[in-house]
Amino acid sequence: MAYDFDLFVIGAGSGGVRAARFAAGFGAKVAVAESRYLGGTCVNVGCVPKKLLVYGAHVADELEQAAGFGWTLEEGHFDWGTLIANKNREIERLNGIYRNLLVNSGVTLLQGHARITGAHEVEVEGQRYSAGHILIATGGWPQVPDIPGKELAITSNEAFYLKELPRRVLVVGGGYIAVEFAGIFQGLGADTTLLYRGDLFLRGFDGSVRTHLKEELQKRGLDLQFNADIQRIDQQAEGSLKATLKDGRELVADCVFYATGRRPMLDNLGLENTGVELDDRGFIRVDDQYQTTEPSIIAIGDVIGRVQLTPVALAEGMAVARRLFKPEQYRPVDYQNIPTAVFSQPPIGTVGLTEEQALEAGHKVQIFESRFRAMKLTLTDIQEKTLMKLVVDAETDKVLGCHMVGPDAGEIIQGLGVALKAGATKQQFDETIGVHPTAAEEFVTMRTATR
Ligand code: FAD
Ligand code: NDP
Repeated sequence: MAYDFDLFVIGAGSGGVRAARFAAGFGAKVAVAESRYLGGTCVNVGCVPKKLLVYGAHVADELEQAAGFGWTLEEGHFDWGTLIANKNREIERLNGIYRNLLVNSGVTLLQGHARITGAHEVEVEGQRYSAGHILIATGGWPQVPDIPGKELAITSNEAFYLKELPRRVLVVGGGYIAVEFAGIFQGLGADTTLLYRGDLFLRGFDGSVRTHLKEELQKRGLDLQFNADIQRIDQQAEGSLKATLKDGRELVADCVFYATGRRPMLDNLGLENTGVELDDRGFIRVDDQYQTTEPSIIAIGDVIGRVQLTPVALAEGMAVARRLFKPEQYRPVDYQNIPTAVFSQPPIGTVGLTEEQALEAGHKVQIFESRFRAMKLTLTDIQEKTLMKLVVDAETDKVLGCHMVGPDAGEIIQGLGVALKAGATKQQFDETIGVHPTAAEEFVTMRTATR
């Protein structure tokens, strides 16, 4: 049977655009439907605008350090409206680039909500299209716990478009987004409290990293409240919000920001018309080739809930395009040693196993850990410390994990990701000549095991 398209992609985000462009490049007839914004979460309400706001907040650090280098500056003034307007302009430019990328690679772009009406059929704006394969790349959506007053809270979606910077902010959650936005709000001047329900935030990250970041954020004056959770939120007469915690305490703020995880975006997607099944967390169930339980339907990216990162969605999109239309180039995605950064202030960079994971996996580990004040701060009064840590297998000498908290951690960890992928040993780290004077050289000069 002849279909309208070889591949119909739902969602023009990180994964969908990558799969569509490459499939079209391999000669397939491809359509993409997008209901909201080209480039998806990452470009519009994720990585890109977030990083721009992080840069904005970081300027405060530079200004603080300036005096030590002899600079006298007039009293600084920050204008939220200017930052948001400039950010919006950049996002619009990127939306245009994504449009051109798709159109120039021969993809048919359909604007509107897509609903699957059968194993090979999708409806967009009342029009039905048939396709040999349907790719679901619809991403995720912020999830806010069901508490009284939850409609008074905002999520990352709204934070990027706030009319003004709130004076007092409560950030709820202890994952990437909570920690990053706490740094943004605080760096830009808001009185910020982070509430996390457990003992220590960033569950799953290396223990030294979590403790170190906690100490550094506290030094910066961020109010960290662990074992704290909101029971209800009430609007106060004068416009502020009152959050009542489960332990009975009451906190007043102008904004309550929830970053408590993301659910798969399956709204009105029509999965009931297919044999697509969900896993026990509610994400789309796929096999190791992203095949759902409906043979003609594939799913990638945040909607499968494996690793919710843009480069992973890109890699999955590429793998799908190759498997379907260029099988001789197909390579499975390697989920081992995925480097990642949390753009907190200071940032985290990490790749490979944490000390806890290495021990749990049965490795005999040697730990190399260093804490130091970065050279740049020696002319200032700032007491921030950088942390670098290597987790090494004591029997094979292989470096199992590299972890860092400090300036440029994301930039530094990318290169170490290559080293771990290549299976580098501690001896090879030791034999690598450092770049002097940098903070990064510490990763190749830690000689004595801390434990
Ligand atoms: P998305 O990019 O979410 O794209 C899905 C697209 O599908 C959307 O455009 C949506 O409108 C569209 N869609 C949904 N349903 C339909 C439908 N029925 N019909 C038509 N279109 C539909 N990752 C990093 O690697 N680094 C970071 O620094 C980073 N920062 C982040 C910061 C924030 C605040 C957030 C929220 C996420 C961040 N992420 C980051 C995660 C990253 O954004 C996601 O992992 C990535 O965007 C997932 O790509 P995707 O293709 O699966 O989905
Ligand atoms: P995460 O899953 O990273 O963190 C969710 C946090 O919310 C956890 O601390 C969790 O606590 C807490 N939580 C969950 N449910 C509740 C609840 N009902 N009440 C109170 N607290 C709750 O999600 P995020 O929203 O921060 O980010 C989503 C994903 O997006 C990330 O996992 C990441 O993959 C990606 N991302 C990547 C970034 C980057 O690469 N720099 C930046 C931003 C996002 P607990 O640990 O106890 O379960």
